[in-house]
Amino acid sequence: MGGKEQQYIHEAFKSNWIAPLGPNVDLFEEAIASYLGQNVSVAALSSGTGALHLALQLAGVSIEDEVICQSFTFSASANPITYLGARPVFVDSEPKTWNICPELLEDAILDGISRGKKPKAIVSVHLYGMPYQVDKVNAIAKKHDIPVVEDSAEALGSSYHGIPCGTFGDIAILSFNGNKIITTSGGGALVTKDAKVKERAVFLATQARDQAPHYQHSAIGYNYRMSNVLAGIGRGQMEVLSQRVDTRRANYQYYLEHLDKLKTIEFLKEPEGYRSNRWLTCILTPGFEIRESIRHALLKENIESRPLWKPMHLQPVFNNSRNFTNGVSEDLFNRGLCLPSGSNLAKHDLDRTIDIIIKALYHA
Ligand SMILES: *Cc1c(COP(=O)(O)O)cnc(C)c1O
Repeated sequence: MGGKEQQYIHEAFKSNWIAPLGPNVDLFEEAIASYLGQNVSVAALSSGTGALHLALQLAGVSIEDEVICQSFTFSASANPITYLGARPVFVDSEPKTWNICPELLEDAILDGISRGKKPKAIVSVHLYGMPYQVDKVNAIAKKHDIPVVEDSAEALGSSYHGIPCGTFGDIAILSFNGNKIITTSGGGALVTKDAKVKERAVFLATQARDQAPHYQHSAIGYNYRMSNVLAGIGRGQMEVLSQRVDTRRANYQYYLEHLDKLKTIEFLKEPEGYRSNRWLTCILTPGFEIRESIRHALLKENIESRPLWKPMHLQPVFNNSRNFTNGVSEDLFNRGLCLPSGSNLAKHDLDRTIDIIIKALYHA
């Protein structure tokens, strides 16, 4: 926590705004909107997953539709497609950013069109905080008139040519889950440049109550609004977001300085104009066995590390889905490892991790 969170929670208690609305919710939304700029409107919600569910619905996705989704991601990017009765079509990554490959994206769109199933939306993800190829993805989406849902759950604090991630899609989402760069313990947000879309998102997120003195409904709603207590945590966290990004970037830099020179360990570098919040520092090892021996050596010292996300097209639950692959995300999954990356790591924690990795490499 940054410091001011408890004060803002206390304000909620003092004013008795213990509800999924209130001053903290409004002020948290304003803080996010002013951080992102670009005249966005923000709806604070109970999770990033809920935000994606609403974003897809607002993008017009419904039953039997097909939605393109980056395969190399966390399952929460894809699951909400199925909540709407739609089907995900998974598209592999390119090696420059590890995110959706523009060429395969266009192949997938043309394939859908040729089957009379033009995709209803594209879910693209700034994975681990690295921006995807925004210009190319947006150009393809625009050419085919398909809305982009920008999954920026891991990329608050990242930017692409100076413009913050979370402002590039037709609708974007953020997450404040406990593991993200800033957190409200659980929470998310929907970001849009259209104030009417925000209004509609809040309407759907609060059980779709029509304007009436009684309870009247002409649409199916959800209970997805953020608690005013948790929004107090969010206000405090926004004040330290830039510090968190600096710390995570410093972690990455430290690992890079000590491991890059080994030549056997690869890092994802920032292409010109890309700035990653370095939510997690990830390394690529020469192969699966070496990756596993590093992971086990760390585990033996009680240090947790994790393989990179397992691509959605390789997940049992999605084994009947259409996919467009090139082997990139499967290779990343086999060789990649997420290192300890928290904002509270001390230099000696990083040194310990680095030492164990180097020793494991020599013994491998
Ligand atoms: C965390 C995450 C989500 C979901 O956010 P929650 O707030 O945990 O529901 C979606 N997409 C990606 C890429 C994530 O990392």
